[in-house]
Amino acid sequence: MALLEMNDLNKRFESEKGHTHALKDITLSVKDGEFITIIGPSGCGKSTMLKIIAGLDTDLSGSVQIEGEEVKGPSIDKGFIFQEPRLFPWYTVEKNIAANYSLHERETWKKVKELIQLVKLDGFEKAYPKELSGGMAQRAAIARALLRNPKVLLLDEPFGALDAFTRSHMQEVLLDIWQKNRTTMLFVTHDIDEAIYLGDRVVIMNARPGSIRKTVTIDLPH
Ligand code: ADP
Ligand code: ADP
Repeated sequence: MALLEMNDLNKRFESEKGHTHALKDITLSVKDGEFITIIGPSGCGKSTMLKIIAGLDTDLSGSVQIEGEEVKGPSIDKGFIFQEPRLFPWYTVEKNIAANYSLHERETWKKVKELIQLVKLDGFEKAYPKELSGGMAQRAAIARALLRNPKVLLLDEPFGALDAFTRSHMQEVLLDIWQKNRTTMLFVTHDIDEAIYLGDRVVIMNARPGSIRKTVTIDLPH
């Protein structure tokens, strides 16, 4: 069974001025553990698609299923990473990663320690977001998203605001996480090099209304 299945997904935004057809006839099946990258012109509906998969927007036609269950709203099996890390400025790194869970709870504490190692923030547990570089803050956001072992990680241009050097470092960190955890990834970018470098499969979208132009499978050496 596919981990994620979108069938004839259509999305329109209604307003007084009329409607915007944002996503048109999207059908895509994603296997467990796949690394999917999504590229396409600005405004073609990439963010909208991720939000729908995340359950943040359920006003649509067609179907979106995770492990055969219709997505009805947000839940802990879907992690989301935005372009900005969105950390709480008044919380330390470890508290940010623990999010709503208590560090006094042993399971959470252990998992936060592991995640700090995984995203290479050792030594920064007690640091505050303002003391971190952009790449470090985004690594903390990734750790936070991984806390409850999501089935899928949705990343919306996560490295778009970083300089080229930090970006390439972050790509290595993310690939390392993926190789260790095998979390299914849906990664939106407008950088074709990044899409090909990271993805097992690259989904290329048409301009609005966003439909899938083609998907390109990238062979990996075994
Ligand atoms: P992308 O991420 O590919 O740049 P978006 O998903 O942000 O594209 O947007 C797709 C289209 O839907 C755009 O035309 C955008 O203006 C429109 N859109 C996105 N969000 C809303 C909204 N909340 N209300 C109305 N229109 C929206
Ligand atoms: P990245 O954002 O990918 O970590 P940087 O060049 O910003 O790349 O940082 C490289 C390393 O330098 C970091 O992993 C960290 O060990 C250290 N570093 C960066 N910013 C700070 C800081 N404000 N305080 C202490 N060490 C830092």
